[in-house]
Amino acid sequence: MKHDQLDIRVGLGEDIHALVPGRRLVLGGIEIAHHAGLLGHSDADALLHAITDALLGAAGLGDIGVHFPDCDARWKGVNSRLILAAACEIVRAAGWEPINVDCTVRAQAPRLGPYREAMRTAIAEVLGIDATRVNVKAKTAERLGSVGREEGIATSAVCLLARATARVAPSDTR
Ligand code: MG
Repeated sequence: MKHDQLDIRVGLGEDIHALVPGRRLVLGGIEIAHHAGLLGHSDADALLHAITDALLGAAGLGDIGVHFPDCDARWKGVNSRLILAAACEIVRAAGWEPINVDCTVRAQAPRLGPYREAMRTAIAEVLGIDATRVNVKAKTAERLGSVGREEGIATSAVCLLARATARVAPSDTR
């Protein structure tokens, strides 16, 4: 099969943020009850950041730091849903449509299983795709390394994009 017949692209994204007391914990676009939250310039939603990188990577459009630099005051404390939505717009403007997203959050604590469906729904809403096209997996680090010591939360994501097919205007349908 020639590439112009099946134009699909895969992208990978990863992120890690430090977990510190006294911050809100925001992951996958939702707030999670915990005594500590992720440290970062924006709301530090490491899951949405990994998905943002996966989307941009699949489209060959660099990474989150290129489009949303942390030296830019516009993105300080911003809800990462806005960053992901903006990245999605950039990707769609380049002619790509997200097919599916699969991601993993690695946290020793809190247990994220109960929040998986809410994260899935929130991510799908931002991407403008059906929730069945989004999958969120939650794992611990088996107490190993920085994540295992609850010093941070690490994330990874893959995203598949397909070349958006040209829409036929209603007046052209004959
Ligand atoms: Mg980040």
